Amino acid sequence: MDWHKVSENTYYRGRVALHAILRAMGVGKGDEVATQAFTCVAVPEAILACGATPVYVDIESQRYNLCPKDLKEKISPKTRAVIVQHTFGIPAALSDILQVTEQAGVPVIEDCCHTFLSTHRGRRVGSFGVASFYSFEWGKPLVVGIGGSAVANDTQLTEQLVRAHQQLGIPNWRRQAKLELQRWVHHALYRPQFYWKLKSLFHRLAKLGVAEGNYNPVGANEFLPVDFLLQMAPRLHRHLAKGLSELEQRASHSRQLVAQLEVELPQGGFHRPSLPPGDEVVYARYPLRVDDKNRLLAKAREGNVELAEWYRTPIHPLGREQSGLVSYEPASCPHAESRSREVVSLPLHARVGRRYVEQVDALFRRAA
Ligand SMILES: *Cc1c(COP(=O)(O)O)cnc(C)c1O
Repeated sequence: MDWHKVSENTYYRGRVALHAILRAMGVGKGDEVATQAFTCVAVPEAILACGATPVYVDIESQRYNLCPKDLKEKISPKTRAVIVQHTFGIPAALSDILQVTEQAGVPVIEDCCHTFLSTHRGRRVGSFGVASFYSFEWGKPLVVGIGGSAVANDTQLTEQLVRAHQQLGIPNWRRQAKLELQRWVHHALYRPQFYWKLKSLFHRLAKLGVAEGNYNPVGANEFLPVDFLLQMAPRLHRHLAKGLSELEQRASHSRQLVAQLEVELPQGGFHRPSLPPGDEVVYARYPLRVDDKNRLLAKAREGNVELAEWYRTPIHPLGREQSGLVSYEPASCPHAESRSREVVSLPLHARVGRRYVEQVDALFRRAA
């Protein structure tokens, strides 16, 4: 693909790109948008910001992506779009999903926040739906700080996106300064062994308003935080261009680390991802299902070994009591619920190397 397209319509965040796509498709009040549970609240944030209602589809029991069978149950005449997420970089079962959506006449939007280069049956993700979106936030394969992008696969939708994009504002200098500072701190300090310390620092600073946090408070009437009216900060474009030019190198680094992890991690105590034949995965993070997630996370924190907990709940990070805010009915997606109690993920970005593989190996041996 021509990666230039990814730097054309850029937005304050990935969810803002999703919101722009939904708006360009005419999604609004009274409409439903289907999306998988086992996601983060950013996705329903975008749906709610359109005035539409999210409808949650369960994931497949062996994978972390939308279940075509459950989609068939949940799709309705009110469904105006289906968001298909390629969780951790694993391609969703697009062939089966598209059968369901084509029969119902509902367009698919691909959530490519975790991958650029994975392929499903030989075809790259992001090329199946009417549009796709990307995020360049801290945990993603290409980090610029905070930002996102939308790419449409048809001319009419592209024109609509471009027109609406011109109406969006530019983040004010305060926001830009915050982002610049955060980016600098991340760049200067971030190493896998500092993950836990930086994470807690970030949460403290976000609470104080010194750092830009990850989520907006959902659930208010007429929910439309200012984020949804903004483009990506212009100064971040050069980082984006650089990242896009290095996608292949980054992908091969990720493949190499996965190959090492697959050989070196001890047997037992966890399950590796099971992949469909014919799909090629470029992981953003390497997910493992573990027997005792909380214990392993506590040990990782103690030993300063990076290990991510997402998604901790079906609509991360919302707990059961908050799920009503995003119209998720507790227990309605049993696989998403059980996976969120079991999955941890390992980083694979450029600063992860040999030393990390040894640390995580030792961690798993200690915990076994
Ligand atoms: C990060 C993420 C988003 C949203 O990205 P933001 O840039 O944080 O708005 C959406 N979907 C998935 C799967 C993500 O991981």
